[in-house]
Amino acid sequence: MSACDLLLTNAVVLTMDERFTVHRDGSLAIVGDSIVAVGPDTRGFDAAETVDCGGRVVMPGLVNAHTHAAMTLLRGLADDLRLDVWLMGYMMPVEREFVNPDFVRLGTELACAEMIRSGITCFADMYYFEEAVAEATSKAGLRAFCAQTVLRFPSPDATSFEDGLARARDFIERWRGHPLIVPGPAPHAPYTCTPEILRACAELAAEFDVPLHIHLSETLLEVEESRRVNGMPVIPWVKKQGLFGAKVLAAHCVHVDDGEMRALKNFNAGVAHNPTSNLKLGAGVAPVARMRELGVDVGIGTDGPASNNDLDMFEETRLAALLAKGIGGDPTALPARDALAMATRIGARALHMDAITGSLEAGKRADLIVLDVDPLHNVPAFTRDPGGIYAQIVYASKATDVRDVLCNGRWLMRDRILLTLDETALRAAAREYATRIDAFLVGREVSVLQKLVAIGGAVEQESFEVQVKARIPSPDRVRSAIEGRELTVIRASRYRQHDIYWSFDDPDQGRLRYREDEFLDEAGGVTGARSRLTLTGRTREDRFGAVLLFRSRYLAPATHSARFYREYFRPTAEHVVEKDRLRWLVAYRGVEFYVHLDRLVNPATEGWFVEVKSRTWSSRDARDKAHVITELLALFGASPDDTIHDGYVELAAGKTSSGD
Ligand SMILES: [Zn+2]
Repeated sequence: MSACDLLLTNAVVLTMDERFTVHRDGSLAIVGDSIVAVGPDTRGFDAAETVDCGGRVVMPGLVNAHTHAAMTLLRGLADDLRLDVWLMGYMMPVEREFVNPDFVRLGTELACAEMIRSGITCFADMYYFEEAVAEATSKAGLRAFCAQTVLRFPSPDATSFEDGLARARDFIERWRGHPLIVPGPAPHAPYTCTPEILRACAELAAEFDVPLHIHLSETLLEVEESRRVNGMPVIPWVKKQGLFGAKVLAAHCVHVDDGEMRALKNFNAGVAHNPTSNLKLGAGVAPVARMRELGVDVGIGTDGPASNNDLDMFEETRLAALLAKGIGGDPTALPARDALAMATRIGARALHMDAITGSLEAGKRADLIVLDVDPLHNVPAFTRDPGGIYAQIVYASKATDVRDVLCNGRWLMRDRILLTLDETALRAAAREYATRIDAFLVGREVSVLQKLVAIGGAVEQESFEVQVKARIPSPDRVRSAIEGRELTVIRASRYRQHDIYWSFDDPDQGRLRYREDEFLDEAGGVTGARSRLTLTGRTREDRFGAVLLFRSRYLAPATHSARFYREYFRPTAEHVVEKDRLRWLVAYRGVEFYVHLDRLVNPATEGWFVEVKSRTWSSRDARDKAHVITELLALFGASPDDTIHDGYVELAAGKTSSGD
């Protein structure tokens, strides 16, 4: 008689092995961290501890193929927003402010408690300070593939990409060979990385023979951008950067074509399907049935709790099965048994960890759960179809039906009591964080300026400017003055300017201008473009005759689309101004001025406008320049009576409000 540490008896053992072997009235023997026998009969074992499972199901612990565990602390922070606004407008600014090892440790502990409670024994993570994730996870007793994020811009744990890469290397070196943790690098996504980062991460993963975790082809926009910028969709592009030299776990793959799916298969890349997150962020539905047909290892993931908003793999698996049917118009697509395999053995394969977990087989680690399939919402049960048990679990079981969880041979939950984590303490600590994060966001939302600063890139630039604008019947006098001898032209350019002005209930917030300039050549062809965002906290400081002195502040390069800013700032009014502008930098009487000859296209306006402006530094300088500007105005054939004191946006606003 051989000895074992733990013997589970009187169970319906769902092995989830390749042949989907089920042992009714089965048992399972464990020595140390591993399964030594599974079968109908393990009476030959002399067990230190025997647990009678009372006819319940014993099955592999669920594998959560993609998450950002520590983001439990950001759960419910910002919802019902588009991916870029959600990520760049909320998640990343809050992360920059709050994410440190303490945050990550607490968030991960909270996630581990939730995951254990819902029968997860292994997960794939991607975050910052991944060492803290690994520490908290191994302490909680769970198994995980922990991947350290590398980005092209500064992140909470790295000031540069080199810094992030060094951190990833250091993390892998320390954690490699750990009994519960598989470390790896995570180049966040192609659109947040450079080709250099992708290549370096792939080489790093290959060097240590660890998997690599990345987001690929999550949204249509990402794929369209890749086509536009790189001339090809996402998968071939990352292939070109050498990504598949590593064992890849690719989250999402929502928008991939047949050729790309074949490439994923050829390179043995695993895919994490995250149905709730993809639905919630409106990303779409991954072609799971087709990927499976082509032999791609597709696991199921919850994604981070900030975009789900929970870590419930029962819910996720059920949704995966239902979506495949609904999208394919085929109720036979992704049957319950296959969906459950995705949540266990195939998920483990996607993580490149199937040698040790994902199914109940002798030699694999003892990662399993005991599931009650006899609660009210799951009775009765039929025996005619042996596969019925899978449907029972996928379509009717709930996370709360998980009674016990064992990982690496250690009990983490018995009879729904957590053994490695203190739920009450976690709740209190999480609440404390929420209070602080709330206060931070409330403070930020106080002003447009603070919101602009929060998304980064805002440069405080206070400038004083004397300027005048006048309506002129014809451009001839301006042109002849420019060509004449009194002015020296330093530079000339021509563009079409599209301005969107956003205003807010409180006029003191200033006005936000999103400007897209198209540079035009002589013939009016577009030669280039640029966009800028300016918060014109524009106040009129002084007035010298018709010439006004303005103060304006804050300029940011417009790194996002107008749509992004509109959804992020939620202005109360929007006005569009479009004009053709001829611009000269001229010297007149030893002073430099900008002269603009404008024709308003939108709102369509008769006639021409001339604008003269110059930067200024003191009120004396302003007065002197105002004097010269008045002379210039006369030279251009505009009388002080023709000047307009409001900008084009007021013209646009006037048009809009009067409706003419
Ligand atoms: Zn993700």
